[in-house]
Amino acid sequence: MCREKKIRVTGITKAVMGDPDIARTLVTAGVSSIGDSRIENIERMKKAGVDATFVLIRTPLMSQAEKVVTCADISLNSELDVIRALSGFAGRHGITHKVIIMVEMGDFREGILVDEVDRFVSRVRELPHIEVAGLGTNLACLNGVRPDDRKMAGLSEIAEKVEQSQGMRFSIISGGNSSNFQWVNSSRDVFKINNLRIGELIFLGMDPLAACPVDFLRQDAFSLVSEVIESKRKKVCLDRGDSRNAFGEISRVKETSCEGMRTILGIGRQDALISGLVPLGDYQIMGSSSDHLVVSGRTNNLKVGQEVRFALTYGALLTAYTSPFVRKTILNLT
Ligand SMILES: *Cc1c(COP(=O)(O)O)cnc(C)c1O
Repeated sequence: MCREKKIRVTGITKAVMGDPDIARTLVTAGVSSIGDSRIENIERMKKAGVDATFVLIRTPLMSQAEKVVTCADISLNSELDVIRALSGFAGRHGITHKVIIMVEMGDFREGILVDEVDRFVSRVRELPHIEVAGLGTNLACLNGVRPDDRKMAGLSEIAEKVEQSQGMRFSIISGGNSSNFQWVNSSRDVFKINNLRIGELIFLGMDPLAACPVDFLRQDAFSLVSEVIESKRKKVCLDRGDSRNAFGEISRVKETSCEGMRTILGIGRQDALISGLVPLGDYQIMGSSSDHLVVSGRTNNLKVGQEVRFALTYGALLTAYTSPFVRKTILNLT
């Protein structure tokens, strides 16, 4: 869909902790580059021999500037001091590092204010070992600002103005993330936007803006499998002295006496964002602590040792992938 509109896709691997097999699958499927928010993940993919252009999509930590220029081909940036540090290390390694300058278009996360982009770009262009590859923006991540024609035309217009004022050409105008799906799907004109950075749409088939599945994509590429470690019918009196739990939360259970099937799974908050787990069966999540997840089912009697499956939201996928206790198994790898 993007290719028809001359938009190249950077496949974003942060949700799968830079899993090299998944990165390779993305490259085979036709992404133009691989992006990740963590330089450690990019390093992991490179070490595993993934052959791709790597983009660091979070503005680099100053303390990692050297690793950034040696591992990533391009980084997204919004601080001159950081780019200066990148230039210094790039020079030392005899390379030129490419940067995409992020523009703040209203989501109140990273980026240079619109009025300051021209001056910022001209300062960056003075640095000897840096090439300004383009401009980018990120919307909808923090405050849900909608990427639409107005925002995309706005970014394109800024790019055009800077190109004219500096007498240069940007090679990349990166319009956003999976939240740009509705825009790219419906737009007649994509203006100067020629790149999108996509993770969630590819992995989960979800349009994050509408929180809706996209009909021609799959929603079942990932599932989390956990194991029952206790399963009992329980009738308990809740003797609450202090009403806060281990995480400082007040219990939602109103009754002082509870009865029902309670099944405990050997997974907890240390392993995944529990609110992002969607039970694939007739049971519901009753609560969780660091290592326990309590579920209750009306009809099914879950047995000790039995496997229980969940679908995952993006937040749950990201956290589950990061837990060393969650074993990752890739099926049908070609
Ligand atoms: C996470 C991220 C993306 C990808 O977001 P998805 O919703 O997974 O498509 C793109 N750009 C930046 C800067 C990000 O941090």
